[in-house]
Amino acid sequence: MHYEGMIIRPPSEADSILLQVTLGCSHNKCTFCGTFREKRFNIKKDDVIFEDIEFARTHCRRQNRLFICDGDALIVPQRRLVPILERIKERLPWVERVGLYANTKGIGMKTDEELEELASLGVKIAYMGLESGDDQVLKEIRKGADSAKMIKMGRRIKKAGIKLSVTVLLGLAGPDRSMIHARETGRVLSDMDPDFVGALSLMLVPGTELHEQHRNGEFKLLEPTQMLAELGEMIANTHLTQGLFHANHASNYLPIRARLPRDKEKTLELISEALQGKIELKPEFMRAL
Ligand code: SF4
Repeated sequence: MHYEGMIIRPPSEADSILLQVTLGCSHNKCTFCGTFREKRFNIKKDDVIFEDIEFARTHCRRQNRLFICDGDALIVPQRRLVPILERIKERLPWVERVGLYANTKGIGMKTDEELEELASLGVKIAYMGLESGDDQVLKEIRKGADSAKMIKMGRRIKKAGIKLSVTVLLGLAGPDRSMIHARETGRVLSDMDPDFVGALSLMLVPGTELHEQHRNGEFKLLEPTQMLAELGEMIANTHLTQGLFHANHASNYLPIRARLPRDKEKTLELISEALQGKIELKPEFMRAL
């Protein structure tokens, strides 16, 4: 495979074929994110992508999922993305699900019909970074979209028949705005009604603007118990039709996996017990991004 730079994928794509179609992220401005700082956004050449599909045809016959890297593959014009998906279908017929990262800019550049076309060609899940439902936080972290746009774009993904997985970031508002961030994120999640929610706990990445703001004293991190209280408030305010809310990423202090609304009360009880010290939290040295 012709991988360039660091490759990332969602935890649930750990066993997927990783096909790098773009380099970096076309937005690349979020103050907490250092993932693609070193990469200049680009779309890889078709012949390189097609060679990698041929490589997968020979070497990845046991992997029935494929994830398109890097940042936001939906930014790739439809006239180029469609032939890539058709080639995947033709040469890797055992692949049952194609996934990709999607941001509001990339989704906004596709019509509803184009999104449906991608779904018909195998795109079955899109991962979207909401981070927060609080407009003030979204502005401060330079996410490039407000909560109304997030809701609209998330709903369009679902309407096209693509499963929606949304990531939120605990601790992103600091201690003073923590509960507003929790409640507003719950509001947006409820409105979007994603199939999956993944809550990560903020860890500062050296070289990012947020790391610098922390060093200058402009941004404060949450204590583990504050992070947990924020998670509880977020779950309490999240009303999904039927979605999986998980906070079992390596960055989290307490692993949570809850089917909502079914497991809501049980999960809130678990968080309450942890806040009372009855359940041990993950020690700081064991957290990772
Ligand atoms: S849109 Fe995603 S990948 Fe791009 S800078 Fe923001 S968090 Fe990072």
